[in-house]
This record gives sequence, structure tokens and C-alpha cells, in this order.
Amino acid sequence: AELLKIKDLSVSVEEKGILKNVNLSINKGETHVLMGPNGAGKSTLGNALMGNPRYSITNGQIFFDGEDITHEAVDKRAKRGIFLSFQSPLEVPGVSLGNFIRSAMEQRFGQRIRLWDFRKELKKSMDILGMDYSYAERDLNVGFSGGEKKKAEILQLLMLKPGLAILDETDSGLDVDAVRTVSEGIKEYQKNMEGSLLIITHSTRILESLTVDKTHVVINGVMKAEGDGSLVDKINNEGFESFLEKE
Ligand code: ADP
Ligand code: MG
Ligand code: MG
Repeated sequence: AELLKIKDLSVSVEEKGILKNVNLSINKGETHVLMGPNGAGKSTLGNALMGNPRYSITNGQIFFDGEDITHEAVDKRAKRGIFLSFQSPLEVPGVSLGNFIRSAMEQRFGQRIRLWDFRKELKKSMDILGMDYSYAERDLNVGFSGGEKKKAEILQLLMLKPGLAILDETDSGLDVDAVRTVSEGIKEYQKNMEGSLLIITHSTRILESLTVDKTHVVINGVMKAEGDGSLVDKINNEGFESFLEKE
């Protein structure tokens, strides 16, 4: 069944047209990869899907689970189960990672979660990511290393169990071990939560242990190519040049 359908979507940022007539569909449980050079519009697509008000939709529609969410607010989309992990996660002094996740879960599921149950589940997920439990008490992302911030994002993914997770360069700036751990977390989400993934990435390291159903290539705000998982390898070997030549 189709979970996400993006139809002829055009997006502007500060009056500047970035994405042009983008089409993309993701079925339930599928993992898609979005690749493209810097400035192509990958993060713009993630932000538009999440409903970031700075990104205005000038054409087309976004459907989630058959419903038109094109103009819906961020919090409503989060409640529906759309999750965006940021390329540069925000630091939030005064809010602990644990409390942040718990209140996000309460909003998402519309009910209170007992502290005991929360802690138990949090520990289970932190174990998968090899995170020390003390991180839950620390202010959200404050003083976290790049790798710790990315792990905190994947921890949210495992706890919130979104139907659709958009991961924006979750692997950038990570060392080999951290990439493997983050990849384990994503695999856990893929395996046990039957969620769909849109992974925005430049590297293929994070994809090595994941099954990829489809790859999309965006260049200059336009979808230039679509293929299966092997397209990732092709781009890795040949770069984006072969797609540029077609312009
Ligand atoms: P990518 O993620 O593929 O590297 P982005 O979506 O971040 O590309 O950016 C695409 C284009 O949109 C770039 O030219 C960038 O400068 C512009 N852009 C993105 N976000 C903003 C913003 N918040 N304000 C101004 N320009 C932006
Ligand atoms: Mg980029
Ligand atoms: Mg980006």
C-alpha cells in the first residue's frame, strides 16, 4: 500500500524556486534513498514533507496514507507519524533528552506514558545504540559530539516509531564505528517497526547493511533518475556527472 505520494511538487525558499515538479512515491515498509549534489534540494524536500513553514509549496500535493497533507502544520504531521531527523540537530538547554523524547511520544500517541515503562523502553533502545544511560539526563544535544547527536536522533526514531522516517544525512561526519551503530539502529527500525524510510545521503557506508528498494537522484531541484539499490553503487563509482550531461 502507498504511504507517501508526492505529486508534481514545487517548493520555494525565500521566494526562490528550489524544487520543480517532483514526483516520488513510497510504499509501506519500503526504504528509499535520495541522492544528489550539494544544494540540489534534498533537505528542502525533507523540510517540505515535514511542513516547515519556511518552505512554501507553490505547486503540487503531498499525500500521506491517502490524505492530502500539503498544507498541514508540522505538529499534525508528527502526530500522523512523519519524522525528520535533521542534518544539524538543535541544541536545547533546559530540556533533557529523556524528557524531550517522552513528551514527543505523548504528543505522538496522544496519551501519558508512565515513567517506569518509558525508562524500560528507553534503556532497550539505548542499548541497541550503545549509548550510556546518563545521556537521557543531559540537556538535548548540548555539548553532544556530532556522533552523539546523530545517535540521539536515531534514539528518537526507535522510540517514536514513525510510519515514515526521513533521515537527512544522519551519517555525515561520523566515524566508521558510529556509522555502523547508527546503521544498526536504522536496521532495527526497518526490521521491527515496518516503517518506511527516506534516507538522504552522500555516502553508501550507511546503506551497506540495509535493504534499499529504490534510489532517487535529484539535481538542481529536478528528479533526474530513479532506480533500484544498485543505482547507489553506480553513483558512487561514476559520480553525478552522467546525470548532469543529460541536461
Ligand atoms: P541539499 O540538501 O541537497 O544540499 P538544500 O535543500 O539544503 O540542498 O538547498 C537547496 C537550495 O535551497 C540551495 O541553493 C540553498 O541555498 C537553498 N536553501 C535551502 N534552505 C534555505 C533557507 N532556509 N534559506 C535560504 N535558502 C535556502
Ligand atoms: Mg547538502
Ligand atoms: Mg541537505
